Amino acid sequence: MQNMQNMQNNTIAYVNGEYLPLDKAQISPLDRGFIFGDGVYEVLWVLNGYIFYLEPHIQRLNQSLKQIGMEAPHSLEEWQAILNTLMEKNEQGNFSLYLQVTRGTYPIRKPEFPDITIPTVFIACFPHTPVSKAEFRKGFKARSVSDIRWKYCDIKTTARQAYVLMLQEVKKQGADEGIIIREGLALEGTASNFFIAKDGILMTPPKSDALLSGIVRDVVIALARKNNIQVLEQNISETDLEFADELWTTSSVRGIYPIVEYNGRTLGLGVPGPFWERIWDLYDEECNRLSLSIPH
Ligand code: PLP
Repeated sequence: MQNMQNMQNNTIAYVNGEYLPLDKAQISPLDRGFIFGDGVYEVLWVLNGYIFYLEPHIQRLNQSLKQIGMEAPHSLEEWQAILNTLMEKNEQGNFSLYLQVTRGTYPIRKPEFPDITIPTVFIACFPHTPVSKAEFRKGFKARSVSDIRWKYCDIKTTARQAYVLMLQEVKKQGADEGIIIREGLALEGTASNFFIAKDGILMTPPKSDALLSGIVRDVVIALARKNNIQVLEQNISETDLEFADELWTTSSVRGIYPIVEYNGRTLGLGVPGPFWERIWDLYDEECNRLSLSIPH
Protein backbone atom coordinates (compact mmCIF):
# COMPACT_ATOMS: atom_id res chain seq x y z
CA MET A 1 0.00 0.00 0.00
CA GLN A 2 1.20 3.52 -0.77
CA ASN A 3 2.32 5.34 2.33
CA MET A 4 0.51 8.66 2.08
CA GLN A 5 2.72 10.17 4.81
CA ASN A 6 5.76 9.81 2.55
CA MET A 7 4.12 11.15 -0.58
CA GLN A 8 5.67 14.40 -1.70
CA ASN A 9 4.22 17.30 -3.62
CA ASN A 10 6.89 19.90 -4.32
CA THR A 11 4.69 22.22 -6.33
CA ILE A 12 4.07 25.90 -5.69
CA ALA A 13 0.69 26.81 -4.23
CA TYR A 14 -1.18 30.10 -3.97
CA VAL A 15 -2.68 31.36 -0.71
CA ASN A 16 -4.30 34.81 -0.51
CA GLY A 17 -1.90 36.61 -2.84
CA GLU A 18 1.24 34.62 -2.00
CA TYR A 19 2.97 31.94 -4.06
CA LEU A 20 4.87 29.46 -1.94
CA PRO A 21 5.83 25.77 -1.73
CA LEU A 22 2.76 23.71 -0.87
CA ASP A 23 4.32 22.39 2.33
CA LYS A 24 4.87 25.99 3.52
CA ALA A 25 1.32 27.12 2.74
CA GLN A 26 -0.69 27.94 5.85
CA ILE A 27 -4.33 28.62 6.59
CA SER A 28 -5.76 29.43 10.02
CA PRO A 29 -7.48 26.55 11.86
CA LEU A 30 -10.27 29.09 12.44
CA ASP A 31 -10.94 29.30 8.72
CA ARG A 32 -14.64 28.65 8.15
CA GLY A 33 -13.70 26.20 5.42
CA PHE A 34 -11.98 24.08 8.07
CA ILE A 35 -14.54 24.60 10.84
CA PHE A 36 -17.80 24.41 8.84
CA GLY A 37 -16.88 23.25 5.34
CA ASP A 38 -18.10 26.77 4.46
CA GLY A 39 -16.56 27.16 1.05
CA VAL A 40 -16.69 26.15 -2.59
CA TYR A 41 -14.11 24.85 -5.04
CA GLU A 42 -13.21 23.86 -8.57
CA VAL A 43 -10.89 21.22 -9.99
CA LEU A 44 -9.36 21.99 -13.37
CA TRP A 45 -7.28 19.88 -15.70
CA VAL A 46 -3.90 21.27 -16.75
CA LEU A 47 -1.70 19.86 -19.51
CA ASN A 48 1.72 21.41 -20.17
CA GLY A 49 0.58 24.49 -18.29
CA TYR A 50 -2.58 24.89 -20.37
CA ILE A 51 -5.69 25.12 -18.19
CA PHE A 52 -8.73 23.59 -19.85
CA TYR A 53 -12.09 25.35 -19.76
CA LEU A 54 -11.06 28.07 -17.34
CA GLU A 55 -13.96 30.35 -18.20
CA PRO A 56 -16.78 27.81 -17.54
CA HIS A 57 -15.02 26.72 -14.36
CA ILE A 58 -14.89 30.31 -13.11
CA GLN A 59 -18.53 30.83 -14.11
CA ARG A 60 -19.50 27.75 -12.11
CA LEU A 61 -17.36 28.93 -9.18
CA ASN A 62 -19.16 32.29 -9.26
CA GLN A 63 -22.50 30.50 -9.35
CA SER A 64 -21.54 28.35 -6.34
CA LEU A 65 -20.34 31.49 -4.49
CA LYS A 66 -23.61 33.26 -5.27
CA GLN A 67 -25.59 30.30 -3.94
CA ILE A 68 -23.72 30.43 -0.63
CA GLY A 69 -24.10 34.21 -0.41
CA MET A 70 -20.51 35.19 -1.20
CA GLU A 71 -19.04 37.71 -3.61
CA ALA A 72 -16.58 36.58 -6.27
CA PRO A 73 -13.12 37.43 -4.88
CA HIS A 74 -11.65 37.92 -8.37
CA SER A 75 -12.71 38.70 -11.91
CA LEU A 76 -11.99 36.20 -14.68
CA GLU A 77 -9.01 38.34 -15.77
CA GLU A 78 -7.63 38.36 -12.23
CA TRP A 79 -7.99 34.57 -11.95
CA GLN A 80 -6.27 34.26 -15.31
CA ALA A 81 -3.34 36.38 -14.13
CA ILE A 82 -3.02 34.46 -10.83
CA LEU A 83 -3.15 31.10 -12.60
CA ASN A 84 -0.70 32.15 -15.32
CA THR A 85 1.81 33.13 -12.66
CA LEU A 86 1.17 29.86 -10.81
CA MET A 87 1.75 27.89 -14.02
CA GLU A 88 5.01 29.77 -14.66
CA LYS A 89 6.17 28.98 -11.14
CA ASN A 90 5.25 25.33 -11.68
CA GLU A 91 7.14 25.11 -14.99
CA GLN A 92 4.00 24.55 -17.10
CA GLY A 93 3.52 20.99 -15.85
CA ASN A 94 0.64 18.49 -15.92
CA PHE A 95 -1.70 18.91 -12.99
CA SER A 96 -5.09 18.65 -11.52
CA LEU A 97 -5.51 22.15 -10.18
CA TYR A 98 -7.52 22.58 -7.00
CA LEU A 99 -8.97 26.05 -6.39
CA GLN A 100 -10.87 26.74 -3.18
CA VAL A 101 -12.60 29.85 -1.84
CA THR A 102 -13.90 29.86 1.72
CA ARG A 103 -15.76 32.41 3.81
CA GLY A 104 -12.48 33.17 5.55
CA THR A 105 -11.30 33.29 9.13
CA TYR A 106 -13.22 34.66 12.10
CA PRO A 107 -11.93 34.74 15.69
CA ILE A 108 -14.90 32.92 17.18
CA ARG A 109 -16.73 29.81 16.10
CA LYS A 110 -20.08 31.25 15.13
CA PRO A 111 -22.18 29.61 12.42
CA GLU A 112 -23.86 32.82 11.25
CA PHE A 113 -22.00 34.85 8.63
CA PRO A 114 -19.56 37.36 10.14
CA ASP A 115 -20.28 41.06 9.30
CA ILE A 116 -17.02 41.38 7.44
CA THR A 117 -15.65 38.43 5.56
CA ILE A 118 -12.33 38.27 3.83
CA PRO A 119 -12.38 35.13 1.74
CA THR A 120 -9.55 32.64 1.85
CA VAL A 121 -8.31 31.70 -1.61
CA PHE A 122 -6.19 28.59 -1.88
CA ILE A 123 -4.92 27.00 -5.08
CA ALA A 124 -2.86 23.81 -5.19
CA CYS A 125 -1.37 21.88 -8.10
CA PHE A 126 -1.42 18.09 -7.90
CA PRO A 127 0.86 16.35 -10.41
CA HIS A 128 -1.30 14.41 -12.82
CA THR A 129 -0.04 12.08 -15.53
CA PRO A 130 -2.40 11.87 -18.49
CA VAL A 131 -3.79 8.36 -19.00
CA SER A 132 -3.63 6.90 -22.51
CA LYS A 133 -6.65 5.64 -24.39
CA ALA A 134 -5.12 2.15 -24.40
CA GLU A 135 -5.03 2.15 -20.60
CA PHE A 136 -8.64 3.37 -20.42
CA ARG A 137 -9.70 0.61 -22.82
CA LYS A 138 -9.23 -1.92 -20.02
CA GLY A 139 -12.41 -0.42 -18.55
CA PHE A 140 -13.48 0.21 -14.97
CA LYS A 141 -16.07 -0.98 -12.47
CA ALA A 142 -18.90 1.00 -10.91
CA ARG A 143 -21.49 0.19 -8.26
CA SER A 144 -24.65 1.93 -7.19
CA VAL A 145 -24.64 3.76 -3.89
CA SER A 146 -27.55 5.31 -1.98
CA ASP A 147 -27.63 9.09 -1.91
CA ILE A 148 -26.77 10.42 1.54
CA ARG A 149 -26.23 14.07 0.45
CA TRP A 150 -28.01 17.32 1.24
CA LYS A 151 -30.37 19.14 -1.13
CA TYR A 152 -28.03 21.53 -2.96
CA CYS A 153 -25.92 19.12 -4.96
CA ASP A 154 -25.48 21.71 -7.73
CA ILE A 155 -23.22 23.74 -5.40
CA LYS A 156 -19.62 22.60 -5.58
CA THR A 157 -19.20 22.77 -1.83
CA THR A 158 -16.02 21.84 0.00
CA ALA A 159 -18.22 19.93 2.47
CA ARG A 160 -17.59 16.59 0.73
CA GLN A 161 -18.06 14.12 3.53
CA ALA A 162 -21.10 12.43 1.96
CA TYR A 163 -19.12 11.90 -1.29
CA VAL A 164 -16.14 10.58 0.63
CA LEU A 165 -18.31 8.03 2.46
CA MET A 166 -20.18 6.97 -0.68
CA LEU A 167 -16.95 6.43 -2.62
CA GLN A 168 -15.45 4.51 0.28
CA GLU A 169 -18.48 2.22 0.35
CA VAL A 170 -18.14 1.24 -3.33
CA LYS A 171 -14.34 1.01 -3.12
CA LYS A 172 -14.75 -1.54 -0.32
CA GLN A 173 -16.70 -3.63 -2.82
CA GLY A 174 -13.96 -3.39 -5.44
CA ALA A 175 -15.47 -0.65 -7.64
CA ASP A 176 -13.66 2.38 -9.04
CA GLU A 177 -16.63 4.78 -8.96
CA GLY A 178 -20.07 4.92 -7.34
CA ILE A 179 -23.21 5.94 -9.15
CA ILE A 180 -25.48 7.83 -6.77
CA ILE A 181 -29.09 6.64 -6.62
CA ARG A 182 -31.95 8.67 -5.16
CA GLU A 183 -35.51 7.36 -5.24
CA GLY A 184 -34.76 4.91 -8.03
CA LEU A 185 -33.02 7.50 -10.23
CA ALA A 186 -29.33 7.46 -11.07
CA LEU A 187 -28.01 11.02 -10.68
CA GLU A 188 -24.24 11.21 -11.09
CA GLY A 189 -20.98 9.63 -9.96
CA THR A 190 -19.38 10.47 -6.61
CA ALA A 191 -16.91 12.70 -8.53
CA SER A 192 -18.33 12.64 -12.05
CA ASN A 193 -21.39 12.83 -14.27
CA PHE A 194 -22.39 9.83 -16.34
CA PHE A 195 -23.74 8.95 -19.78
CA ILE A 196 -25.31 5.73 -21.00
CA ALA A 197 -25.72 4.48 -24.55
CA LYS A 198 -28.84 2.48 -25.30
CA ASP A 199 -30.16 1.45 -28.71
CA GLY A 200 -27.95 3.96 -30.52
CA ILE A 201 -28.78 7.01 -28.33
CA LEU A 202 -26.74 8.70 -25.62
CA MET A 203 -28.49 9.74 -22.43
CA THR A 204 -27.50 11.67 -19.32
CA PRO A 205 -29.61 12.95 -16.42
CA PRO A 206 -30.91 16.52 -16.82
CA LYS A 207 -29.40 19.41 -14.84
CA SER A 208 -31.05 19.96 -11.48
CA ASP A 209 -30.12 20.62 -7.86
CA ALA A 210 -29.64 16.85 -7.49
CA LEU A 211 -26.34 16.88 -9.36
CA LEU A 212 -23.33 18.98 -10.23
CA SER A 213 -23.48 20.42 -13.70
CA GLY A 214 -20.15 19.12 -14.96
CA ILE A 215 -17.96 21.09 -17.34
CA VAL A 216 -17.01 17.93 -19.25
CA ARG A 217 -20.68 16.85 -19.32
CA ASP A 218 -21.50 20.07 -21.22
CA VAL A 219 -18.51 19.67 -23.54
CA VAL A 220 -19.49 16.07 -24.37
CA ILE A 221 -23.09 17.04 -25.12
CA ALA A 222 -21.95 19.87 -27.40
CA LEU A 223 -19.37 17.70 -29.20
CA ALA A 224 -21.85 14.85 -29.69
CA ARG A 225 -24.55 17.13 -31.10
CA LYS A 226 -22.07 18.89 -33.38
CA ASN A 227 -21.20 15.47 -34.78
CA ASN A 228 -24.81 14.35 -35.25
CA ILE A 229 -24.85 12.00 -32.29
CA GLN A 230 -28.17 12.18 -30.51
CA VAL A 231 -28.04 12.96 -26.77
CA LEU A 232 -31.09 13.05 -24.52
CA GLU A 233 -31.00 14.81 -21.17
CA GLN A 234 -33.54 12.73 -19.30
CA ASN A 235 -34.09 10.87 -16.06
CA ILE A 236 -32.29 7.54 -15.96
CA SER A 237 -33.49 4.78 -13.65
CA GLU A 238 -31.34 2.26 -11.84
CA THR A 239 -32.64 -0.43 -14.20
CA ASP A 240 -31.73 1.66 -17.29
CA LEU A 241 -28.16 1.56 -16.06
CA GLU A 242 -28.12 -2.18 -15.55
CA PHE A 243 -29.32 -2.77 -19.10
CA ALA A 244 -27.29 -0.04 -20.80
CA ASP A 245 -25.11 -0.94 -23.78
CA GLU A 246 -22.47 1.47 -22.50
CA LEU A 247 -21.85 3.50 -19.37
CA TRP A 248 -19.11 6.07 -18.93
CA THR A 249 -18.45 8.88 -16.49
CA THR A 250 -17.10 12.34 -17.24
CA SER A 251 -14.96 14.68 -15.16
CA SER A 252 -12.20 17.23 -15.64
CA VAL A 253 -9.55 15.04 -14.09
CA ARG A 254 -10.48 11.60 -15.46
CA GLY A 255 -11.96 12.71 -18.78
CA ILE A 256 -14.25 10.14 -20.41
CA TYR A 257 -14.01 7.08 -18.18
CA PRO A 258 -15.51 3.83 -19.48
CA ILE A 259 -17.35 1.52 -17.11
CA VAL A 260 -17.55 -2.10 -18.26
CA GLU A 261 -18.99 -3.67 -15.11
CA TYR A 262 -21.89 -2.28 -13.10
CA ASN A 263 -23.00 -3.90 -9.84
CA GLY A 264 -21.02 -6.99 -10.77
CA ARG A 265 -22.75 -7.35 -14.12
CA THR A 266 -20.90 -7.02 -17.45
CA LEU A 267 -22.10 -4.15 -19.64
CA GLY A 268 -22.31 -4.68 -23.40
CA LEU A 269 -19.42 -6.83 -24.54
CA GLY A 270 -17.39 -6.11 -21.39
CA VAL A 271 -15.15 -3.60 -23.20
CA PRO A 272 -15.66 0.13 -23.85
CA GLY A 273 -18.17 0.48 -26.67
CA PRO A 274 -18.23 2.41 -29.96
CA PHE A 275 -19.80 5.54 -28.43
CA TRP A 276 -17.06 5.74 -25.85
CA GLU A 277 -14.43 5.27 -28.60
CA ARG A 278 -15.95 8.09 -30.64
CA ILE A 279 -16.55 10.53 -27.80
CA TRP A 280 -13.08 9.88 -26.37
CA ASP A 281 -11.57 10.79 -29.77
CA LEU A 282 -13.76 13.88 -30.17
CA TYR A 283 -12.87 15.11 -26.68
CA ASP A 284 -9.18 14.36 -27.23
CA GLU A 285 -9.18 16.25 -30.56
CA GLU A 286 -10.99 19.19 -28.96
CA CYS A 287 -8.53 19.36 -26.05
CA ASN A 288 -5.55 19.15 -28.45
CA ARG A 289 -7.05 21.91 -30.55
CA LEU A 290 -7.60 24.14 -27.51
CA SER A 291 -4.20 23.60 -25.95
CA LEU A 292 -2.32 24.06 -29.23
CA SER A 293 -4.25 27.13 -30.36
CA ILE A 294 -3.02 29.29 -27.49
CA PRO A 295 0.66 30.13 -27.22
CA HIS A 296 2.05 29.48 -23.74
N1 PLP B 1 -20.31 15.51 -10.21
C1 PLP B 1 -19.59 15.55 -9.08
C2 PLP B 1 -20.25 15.19 -7.78
C3 PLP B 1 -18.23 15.90 -9.10
O1 PLP B 1 -17.53 15.95 -7.96
C4 PLP B 1 -17.63 16.21 -10.33
C5 PLP B 1 -16.22 16.59 -10.42
O2 PLP B 1 -15.53 16.64 -9.45
C6 PLP B 1 -18.40 16.15 -11.50
C7 PLP B 1 -19.74 15.81 -11.41
C8 PLP B 1 -17.79 16.43 -12.85
O3 PLP B 1 -17.58 17.80 -13.01
P1 PLP B 1 -16.51 18.37 -14.07
O4 PLP B 1 -16.86 17.77 -15.40
O5 PLP B 1 -16.76 19.83 -14.03
O6 PLP B 1 -15.17 17.97 -13.57
